[in-house]
Amino acid sequence: MPSCLSDVPGAMEAGWREYVDPGGRMVYVNDKTYEEAHTLAKVAEKMGKMREREAKGVHATGMRMDEIEEGHMSLQACAYCGRKFNQKSIQRHEQVCKEAGNKHAMRM
Ligand SMILES: [Zn+2]
Repeated sequence: MPSCLSDVPGAMEAGWREYVDPGGRMVYVNDKTYEEAHTLAKVAEKMGKMREREAKGVHATGMRMDEIEEGHMSLQACAYCGRKFNQKSIQRHEQVCKEAGNKHAMRM
């Protein structure tokens, strides 16, 4: 079992990085495909799928497909502005939202 991102061959090169969300949970995000994985096994799995797609000449982000595949269709409220996002977007949004926090605070 890989224990860190550098143990997954090619993961860093493929754009994966470690990211700690505002709740303190560690996830892996890919800046190139905007994919997100909670375990290294998932990272490896997604990389496998990406290679398959690339082999077919497809360069889609695969976001919607992954959402459906993983059943992540439930919405989660942003801790900062309360807007609802799907599981894939919430962490990314909260990071941005936190940085823009003052504007939201004034609106609310
Ligand atoms: Zn927000």
